[in-house]
Amino acid sequence: MAETDVLIVGGGAVGNVIAKGLLTHTSLSVSLVEPSQYSVDGSHPGFDDRVIALAKRTVDELAELGVDTRLAGGVPIRHIQVTDQGAAGMCQMDANAHNLDRFGDVVSLSRLGLALRVEPNMPRFTLYCPASVASVTRNSDSAHVTLSSGDSCHAKLIVLADGGRSALHESLGFERQSEDYGQSAIIVNAITAEPHHHRAYERFTAQGPLAFLPFNPGFDETRGEHGFSVVWTVPPDRADALLTAPDSIFIRALQDEFGWRQGAIEQIGKRAVYPLALSTVKNVVVHRAVACGNASQTLHPIAGQGFNLGLRDAMGLVRALQHASDPGAFDVLRQYAQARAADKEATITLTDGLVRLFSNKNPGLMALRNLGLVAMDNSRALKQQFVRQTTGYAPGA
Ligand SMILES: Cc1cc2nc3c(=O)[nH]c(=O)nc-3n(C[C@H](O)[C@H](O)[C@H](O)COP(=O)(O)OP(=O)(O)OC[C@H]3O[C@@H](n4cnc5c(N)ncnc54)[C@H](O)[C@@H]3O)c2cc1C
Repeated sequence: MAETDVLIVGGGAVGNVIAKGLLTHTSLSVSLVEPSQYSVDGSHPGFDDRVIALAKRTVDELAELGVDTRLAGGVPIRHIQVTDQGAAGMCQMDANAHNLDRFGDVVSLSRLGLALRVEPNMPRFTLYCPASVASVTRNSDSAHVTLSSGDSCHAKLIVLADGGRSALHESLGFERQSEDYGQSAIIVNAITAEPHHHRAYERFTAQGPLAFLPFNPGFDETRGEHGFSVVWTVPPDRADALLTAPDSIFIRALQDEFGWRQGAIEQIGKRAVYPLALSTVKNVVVHRAVACGNASQTLHPIAGQGFNLGLRDAMGLVRALQHASDPGAFDVLRQYAQARAADKEATITLTDGLVRLFSNKNPGLMALRNLGLVAMDNSRALKQQFVRQTTGYAPGA
């Protein structure tokens, strides 16, 4: 029977960061179970067509693990503009004004995946792929896990990093609660007439938020500086219609919502749709198991915090296990949960609050949030607080 210190269930972005972190910073043995085979070009359910914004802290922590986000096509965000459709209020932020060279980098998730994946032949590492967990039985000092591949092993700790996709949550005793936002996100890459100058836009529209992130979609290398990755939140029925609309109709609708601050939207790529919900576990640790990343909380993409928070979960767990003689001991897991609680709560509250505030059509609230944008634009302290939280460098994060 195989023995492992830590068995990670789910080999997406967070599962791989945990594996890499544990192999780099501890002497623990690590196994990873992933049902979908990894492909040479990077495409995978955990590393799909999404383009995501990595906060400065995430870029820094990945660099310490030897992952250079520039190799994943990373484009720095140096300026942010927040606007509310139909209102004059606006808030602008510049990285320089906060003594930063960038707020973060925008990367292709599939290219990031190629850099994150742990080589199967690493010492102290076992990859079970394709495989999933068939059963788990736990006693006081370990878990006995059998896999769909017929393999089985004893693990001192199970880390759930399956994005909340498997039935293991319930069987292990995690209590999950979900609330549908009644919104879907359309993602698409675009080229605009004007270059991006490393500016990211967050625009609040009557139907939901719309983000333009500077990114080179690779349509045409001479136009890379004109590229954006777009995340457009709309009601689900509109998302279905927009997904299949001809390019010209889609571009017109997108231009109507975004306006002309980047000139004409000239070209778009493939579209994909994601239904949006807030889904969290009440208890991030149970006997001999811990939930990390999307398995612990799945967020709205409005503030680009999902993976950033998941990475802080991952590195928090690595730090918690660094000097632990038994990685699954109750005290070790309890201390991890306590250390992560404030950051999780602050990030979930910020993200959920932004969705509710900026998806609301109440005229009184619309006037208030417009005043809020103006106030924020004029307050260095408010901007500083927002920047600390979204770059991952808030106290206690
Ligand atoms: C439109 C959109 C835009 C986003 N933008 C941003 C952004 O700008 N910044 C940011 O930080 N985040 C962003 N996110 C969130 C981010 O993409 C996720 O938080 C992150 O990718 C989650 O990684 P994960 O490894 O926790 O989970 P997942 O990516 O869900 O990975 C789970 C893994 O588990 C595997 N799995 C599935 N079933 C099983 C099973 N039964 N057993 C074992 N394994 C299983 C899957 O194959 C996968 O490999 C965005 C999300 C969306 C939808």
